[in-house]
Amino acid sequence: MKRILITGAAGFLGSHLCDRFIRDGYHVSGMDNLITGRLKNIEHLFGLENFEFYHHDVSKFIHVPGKLDYILHFASPASPIDYLKIPIQTLKVGSLGVHNCLGLAKAKGARILIASTSEVYGDPTVHPQTEEYWGNVNPVGPRGVYDEAKRFQEAITMAYNNFHGLETRIVRIFNTYGPRMRLNDGRVLPAFIGQALRGEDLTIFGDGSQTRSFCYVDDLVEGIVRLLHSDYAYPVNIGNPSEISIAEFAEEIIKLTGTKQKVIYKDLPIDDPKQRQPDITKAQSILKWQPLIDRAEGLKKTYAFFKSLSQEELMETDHYNFDKYIIK
Ligand code: UDP
Repeated sequence: MKRILITGAAGFLGSHLCDRFIRDGYHVSGMDNLITGRLKNIEHLFGLENFEFYHHDVSKFIHVPGKLDYILHFASPASPIDYLKIPIQTLKVGSLGVHNCLGLAKAKGARILIASTSEVYGDPTVHPQTEEYWGNVNPVGPRGVYDEAKRFQEAITMAYNNFHGLETRIVRIFNTYGPRMRLNDGRVLPAFIGQALRGEDLTIFGDGSQTRSFCYVDDLVEGIVRLLHSDYAYPVNIGNPSEISIAEFAEEIIKLTGTKQKVIYKDLPIDDPKQRQPDITKAQSILKWQPLIDRAEGLKKTYAFFKSLSQEELMETDHYNFDKYIIK
């Protein structure tokens, strides 16, 4: 039986990856410090013989007994509101955390795939974004703690590949959505759906002309599995190129949920990228991958999940102090 370690296992993406590798017959060791992850996401796996869970912070030395064939490094806060709230942990997990994971991979002779992000492109001046584009990142802005940690993470991963001959893979993940997103993580989709379900107005930041391209989680997981099993060590974009403005997206959510509320406009956060769309030519040619689930289908499944939450979960809206990051 192949053995895989998944860091960030209790998070949105990590938990879907645990499910996928369990389904594929692997022994899965999940690791999470539960700062932004939730045990509820992997509760159904406890008690399985081929699943175990470590409550551990990957920024500290990692010990996993026995053999390991693969490591997926998915631990990190990943929404603007989270990394604004916990900037130092965000920097640590992308630097000390990845270093520990790479060291563990080297010690075990394991192949490692690390989760990078479209944020390495910053507020992009090239559209759509190809992997060759080096990006437009403000290192000292509020998003710098995430963007630069992820850029460092890519650099150290390539260094382990070149210097130690470690088998490494880098996925650049674009906006992804689906069941198990945290309702209060501040991301636009849970924000809008949560607001609709609570009977609040939908908050558009800026004038809503900024664009994003949303990928359903099952498509993303399939792309990651294919990349892990490929022999390609350079970064690969995985995302859905179907681009939409945030204003149009709000209209889609209003239609989907049937809410009678309206949209209201708030200030745009500093360094909020104006446009984002993955060029997935590489994934198509190297991995023979492309997204299969369109937004209408994906949003239906995601809405069904949010609708199933309890009233208590629905009202759990941590209101972080976001104001100082907003342009006045
Ligand atoms: N956004 C918004 N209203 C919200 C939350 C987010 O208009 O309540 C905007 C945000 O400013 C950004 C886009 O939606 O332009 C996507 O934000 P998200 O935090 O989901 O992810 P990002 O792609 O910015 O990392």
